[in-house]
Amino acid sequence: TPKRPSNQELLLNEILQEALALPLSGEVANYIPALASVNPNQCGIAVANLDGQVHVAGDADVPFSIQSVSKVFGLALAMLRMGDDLWQRVHMEPSGQAFNSIVQLEWEHGIPRNPFINAGAIVVADTLVSHYSASKNALMSFVRGLADRPEIAVNQDVFLSEKQHGSRNAALAYLMKSFGNIEADVEDALDHYFYQCSIEMSCRDVARSLSFLANRGVQPHSGDTIVSRRDAHRINAIMQTSGMYDQSGEFAFEVGLPAKSGVGGGIVAIVPNYGVICAWSPRLNQYGNSCMGMYMITRLAEKLGLSVY
Ligand code: GLU
Repeated sequence: TPKRPSNQELLLNEILQEALALPLSGEVANYIPALASVNPNQCGIAVANLDGQVHVAGDADVPFSIQSVSKVFGLALAMLRMGDDLWQRVHMEPSGQAFNSIVQLEWEHGIPRNPFINAGAIVVADTLVSHYSASKNALMSFVRGLADRPEIAVNQDVFLSEKQHGSRNAALAYLMKSFGNIEADVEDALDHYFYQCSIEMSCRDVARSLSFLANRGVQPHSGDTIVSRRDAHRINAIMQTSGMYDQSGEFAFEVGLPAKSGVGGGIVAIVPNYGVICAWSPRLNQYGNSCMGMYMITRLAEKLGLSVY
C-alpha cells in the first residue's frame, strides 16, 4: 500500500500547485544549446530534515544541471583542503556586479570578491586542481558521498558546450593568471570549473547532500563531520550575502535564508537546525534565479517561519 503523504508533503504539494498556477514567466538559460532544450515547465521541491527524512513534491527526483549550485561543493572541498590560506586568494564580500563580471578583478589585482561569482569559483577550482592529482574525481566522490548516491554524474553534452562557449570565463581566468592568482594551467582550472557546473542532481540529492550545512557541519544521515562548525557557519554566511546573484539582498530581505542558485533553475536554501530545501524549475527571472523556485521557497519559509532573522 502506498504510504500516506506527511503533513510536510501536503504543504509542499499545495505550494507546488500554487507555483504551477502562476502566470508563466521567465525564460530558460539559453547560452548553451544543452540547457536551452530542457522542458521549461518542470517543477520540483524537496526538503531534507535533520532526522534524515526527505519530503518531496513534483519533479523532485528528476536530475537537472546544478550549474552554480556546484560552487557550494567546490568551496566546501577547497576549504577542507586549503584551510585559511584560501582566503588569501578569494575574499568574502558581495560583489554588487554581475556573476561573470570582469571589471572588479582589474581594480582588485586579480582577487575575486567572493567564491560564488565565476572568478571566485574559478580560483576555487584552481586550488582543487593544484591540490589533487585528479580534482574532478575528488569532487565527484565528495558529492556522491555527501548524497550517498554513487550514480550522480556529469552531463557530457553540457560539459562540452560549456567549454565551447566559455570565452568569458577564460578571460576571467587569464586575467587572474596575469596577477598570479591562478597556479595551475588556466585550461585545467577552467576544465574543472566547467565539469563541476555540468553535474546533474535531483532536488532530493541536492537537499540531502548539503544537510551538513544546516547541522553545524555534521551530515545527519551518516553522522560524519564534513566541515567544522566554523566552516559551516562561513559557507552559510557567504551563501546569504552572495548566493543569489544580484538578488541576494532581496532574498535575505524577503526570505532570510542562506541560499545558492544556478542557471539550470535550481535553488538550495539552508535552514540552520532544521534542514535543507531544494527547489528546481528552469524558467529564470531577470536575475537568473528560478521564477517558480523563488516562489516556492519564499512561500515555504513564510508558512513555516523559517527565516534565520
Ligand atoms: N556555467 C555557467 C557559467 O559559468 C554557470 C552559470 C551559473 O549557474 O551561474 O557561466
